[in-house]
Amino acid sequence: MADTVYLDNAATTPVDPRVFEAMRPFWIETWGNPSSVYAVGRRARRALDNARDRCAQILNARANEIIFTGCGSESDNLAIKGCAMAMAEQRGWRHVVTSRVEHHAVLHACEWLAQHMGFEITYVDVDGYGRVDPADMTAAVRPDTAVVSIMYANNEVGTIEPVAEIARAVKAVNPLTVVHTDAVQAGGLLPLDVEALGVDALALSGHKFYAPKGVGLLYLRRGTPLVHLLSGGGQERGIRAGTENVAYIVGMTVALELAYAELSQRVAHVSALRDRLIDGVTSRIDGSQLTGHPTDRMPNSASFAIDGADGESLLLNLDQEGIYASSGSACTSGTLEISHVLCALGLPEAQARGSLRLTTGVRTTEGDVERLIDVLPAIVERVREVTPSLVG
Ligand code: PLP
Repeated sequence: MADTVYLDNAATTPVDPRVFEAMRPFWIETWGNPSSVYAVGRRARRALDNARDRCAQILNARANEIIFTGCGSESDNLAIKGCAMAMAEQRGWRHVVTSRVEHHAVLHACEWLAQHMGFEITYVDVDGYGRVDPADMTAAVRPDTAVVSIMYANNEVGTIEPVAEIARAVKAVNPLTVVHTDAVQAGGLLPLDVEALGVDALALSGHKFYAPKGVGLLYLRRGTPLVHLLSGGGQERGIRAGTENVAYIVGMTVALELAYAELSQRVAHVSALRDRLIDGVTSRIDGSQLTGHPTDRMPNSASFAIDGADGESLLLNLDQEGIYASSGSACTSGTLEISHVLCALGLPEAQARGSLRLTTGVRTTEGDVERLIDVLPAIVERVREVTPSLVG
């Protein structure tokens, strides 16, 4: 990566070498199945139990409130579908509230409930910064609302949602409604105290904070009704069958601990670089504007709408310079679809098509940021020339 500049840390992050070293013994030495009764299995079980305790501590939760999963999407699906179906079974409630700017892991889980389980979904609007007004959220809550799902921080524009305020307000209207937050982007950079947040469920994904891809967790408050989605053995208290991926779970635990032990340095580092990106791009490129909230935003996220410049073309041109960035979310980039998030913010199409997301990480350097700021103006000019129909 010596000659390349990686500014897509919201898409994924490289594994921290300390995390990799912590994982190594669980492939080579302590490779047992945690459900086996003999020594190598018992050692794996101890590592798993220990990881659960340590993750719980970071979240200010109890160990039996942590469910290890395969990714953030799985955690979101388990919380939303699992809690919604349990509430339908127990109370006949079939209504879910979420926002228009959620990740597809949430939006598509909601759509699935509507299509296959007869649920009604209310999508709450956001303001021009992508923020949900807690009053709008509570206005949408009904006596039969099974689940409210609100993201902690937006993956495209970095806006931080008032999760604690929303959770409190929702509980005041309907104390039994399950409040879930998709904290996948927030993990490793924002506080994750589930008591302070007041949520019943919280989803995390290891690969956003320097653990490998393919491991996540769901915090589920004790007593929250849940139907399991994956049937099989009794792993994860019967909630999520499948032999546990001990190495990855240990890796995610170490990565989470490192993130919160080093939080203030990391936030200072990534936010200084983010601010330089925001300043450099908006001052050097006419017709560019910051998207998302100016202050209540992820410390690592700089996102822009660049008038008349197609986002996909910007990415391809940056790639040729060895700079890796993103336009919209990783899931929608690669298609010409306009991001549902930018539409929800009310951006005109010409601007929404020119979206660029630059996200810094612990390995990002000042040199990386200056290189982006140096090359982007000429790229934008070139891209604008070949996409005249988008100008204006
Ligand atoms: N939720 C948000 C906000 C995300 O940004 C992502 C991934 O980009 C996910 C959920 C899905 O996480 P995973 O890739 O671990 O399934």
